[in-house]
This record gives sequence, structure tokens and C-alpha cells, in this order.
Amino acid sequence: MIEFRVNGRRVPASRVGDEFARALKNDIKREIIGNLRRVRCPVHHRPVSNIRVSESAGRIEWSGEVCCPRLQQEFDRRFR
Ligand SMILES: [Zn+2]
Repeated sequence: MIEFRVNGRRVPASRVGDEFARALKNDIKREIIGNLRRVRCPVHHRPVSNIRVSESAGRIEWSGEVCCPRLQQEFDRRFR
């Protein structure tokens, strides 16, 4: 019998595709959150907080809270 593991978890062969897609998505989410948290407010030196990453209709969207408009400007400058 062939055993498949995705991120150390055993999954049935028939579900490897699903599990792999989910693991990949989780990796992508982690990566996005990591990138977002590297951006810091030039005034308060704080990163964005309460980051939420979601996926809808194949698009990844994120939201978070900023300490002030300067941090918002940093995001606008870098991600647009
Ligand atoms: Zn700030």
C-alpha cells in the first residue's frame, strides 16, 4: 500500500489532490502574512495587526488593521 503524507499528515490517495491544494494555499497564506508583517509604520514602527487572508473565486484577499494613515500609505506605495 502506498501512503501519502501532506505536511506530515497521512491522507488517503484519493484525497491527495485536495490535501495538497489546501497545504499549498496555507503556505501561500503564511507567505502573504509574512510579507505583510514586514511592512512597518514609519512613525510607530508597528506592523499591520489582525491580518486575515481569505480566498474567494480564486482570488486571494487580505485585510488588516493599521495604527494610522502613514502605515496605510506604506501599503499603497508598495502594493499598488
Ligand atoms: Zn502608525
